[in-house]
Amino acid sequence: MTKKYDVIVIGAGNAGLAAAATAAATGMKTLLIEKNVYPGGCATSFRRGRFEFETALHELANVGTEENPGTIRKIFSDFGIDVNWHIDDTAFRVITADYDVTMPAGVEKFCCEMEKNVPGSYDSVRAVFRLGKKANEAFKYLSSGKPDPNVMMTKHRDFMIMASHSVDTCLNALNMPQRAQNILNTYWSYIGAPSDRLDFLFYVIILDRYINLGPAMPIMRSHEITSAFEDSVRRNGGEIWYGTKVEEIIMKDGKALGVKIGEKEIYGSKIIANCHPGCSFGSLIREDHIPERALKIHNARKNGAQFFTMYIGLCKDAASLGINDYTLILYDSPLSVKQYEGCRGLDTSFIMVNCLNCAFKSASPEGTSMLYFTSVFTEDILKDVTTEGYKDFKNHVAEAMIKRYEEKAGISITPYIEEIVTSSPATFARYINTPGGTPYGYEVSLWDSMIARILNSKNERLFGNLWFVGAHGERTDGYNSAISNGIDAAKSAIKEIKQDRETIA
Ligand SMILES: Cc1cc2nc3c(=O)[nH]c(=O)nc-3n(C[C@H](O)[C@H](O)[C@H](O)COP(=O)(O)OP(=O)(O)OC[C@H]3O[C@@H](n4cnc5c(N)ncnc54)[C@H](O)[C@@H]3O)c2cc1C
Repeated sequence: MTKKYDVIVIGAGNAGLAAAATAAATGMKTLLIEKNVYPGGCATSFRRGRFEFETALHELANVGTEENPGTIRKIFSDFGIDVNWHIDDTAFRVITADYDVTMPAGVEKFCCEMEKNVPGSYDSVRAVFRLGKKANEAFKYLSSGKPDPNVMMTKHRDFMIMASHSVDTCLNALNMPQRAQNILNTYWSYIGAPSDRLDFLFYVIILDRYINLGPAMPIMRSHEITSAFEDSVRRNGGEIWYGTKVEEIIMKDGKALGVKIGEKEIYGSKIIANCHPGCSFGSLIREDHIPERALKIHNARKNGAQFFTMYIGLCKDAASLGINDYTLILYDSPLSVKQYEGCRGLDTSFIMVNCLNCAFKSASPEGTSMLYFTSVFTEDILKDVTTEGYKDFKNHVAEAMIKRYEEKAGISITPYIEEIVTSSPATFARYINTPGGTPYGYEVSLWDSMIARILNSKNERLFGNLWFVGAHGERTDGYNSAISNGIDAAKSAIKEIKQDRETIA
């Protein structure tokens, strides 16, 4: 049997695109197969009337400026991808029952603003960012190949100490006032786990990337990133098949031989699946080919949060409506643990509202503005929704979101709504094929954080030449993480292909 492709990638989400671009760039005969008719998975945009709405991205971490580039900017530059970025100078505005604060990007500005809001907090908040910087340096060393345990114990001692402690434990150890902890913990919803279950090391890495380098967004929406990746794959000779669903991964003796599309079989040396294992076991891979350990690992984990989003086009500009914040986060309680609990039922106590026009005015036609509403749900909100009740369910959540926003932000938008689109977890499940439509993979926890997953990655390679990549992967959710995860898997596949070739030669 002749192998047609070196690498077959299933799914053109962030991780799949990055994997295919990496494989193609090293001269591997690459095929990328995507069931939708466009690239990106979550990472895309769509038009309604006069508006182009961003589907998912609020802000990308780890981009930075040309003078102070983050990993993502460097990765894109290596691929020859030129994205026109907007880097915002505000991190977020957060309103809870206790406070209403707007936090700037930039570490020093962030710490000073925190001191203004919570006197006596400066030193402990500054210490968090110092640890964040150290954690990022250690993480880079850890990711660079074979880390030397002695170097980890001496040069990166803080990294070892921080690992496996919760955010709450470490912020208390730094004597940070509770109110400052609450404000600092605002980002938990970007990861999907509360501060008592979130590993501190992971959190400071994320904080450092967002606050130090500033939140970034592509001016032309996510499509600018994904079409540039697509271009990179094709420029390097890779093939992309859109509108094509992989129905089976052909397995034999613990190895993946290729993929099945209808009656057609396509063969490849290495397969990279940008698919959630939960949706792949039993549908893409036949049960008798799934190692028991893989099922146990999957069952031990909890699927990530579900999302409900709403995209609104307004026939009035943001400033005249009194909308001044790019990212406004509304929580009931100031405590992240309570905020997480409040995301269990239909009437979520958390919404995030983004107005792209506040980042760059020209995001929609003059005299108009756009708002993206996002709520996350930590339990399955669709479980009691019937087919007949689906429309009412969507309307209920949408109306509750608008009401909450109008009350808490004190801004009236209802009379100016020109376009409105809602996406429930069912919508996301249809587009990205994950359990409950989660874009967050598996929920992170103290035993299953990014560091634990990376350290365990070799033990979790249970399918030989088949890799699962995406938000469920080692680096967890988010554009930045999924892209890096896809690149890591492709590099590992390329290395093995080269070794196989040397053995044959
Ligand atoms: C509303 C919202 C807001 C978000 N905000 C942010 C943010 O501000 N910053 C951030 O970094 N992240 C954010 N995220 C999270 C981020 O978008 C995701 O974590 C990330 O994009 C997931 O990438 P992925 O590689 O797992 O691919 P996915 O987006 O899950 O895509 C998987 C792709 O694989 C395809 N596929 C699956 N099965 C098959 C098959 N059998 N055959 C062919 N194709 C298949 C799917 O069609 C899909 O295109 C947000 C997500 C949402 C929904």
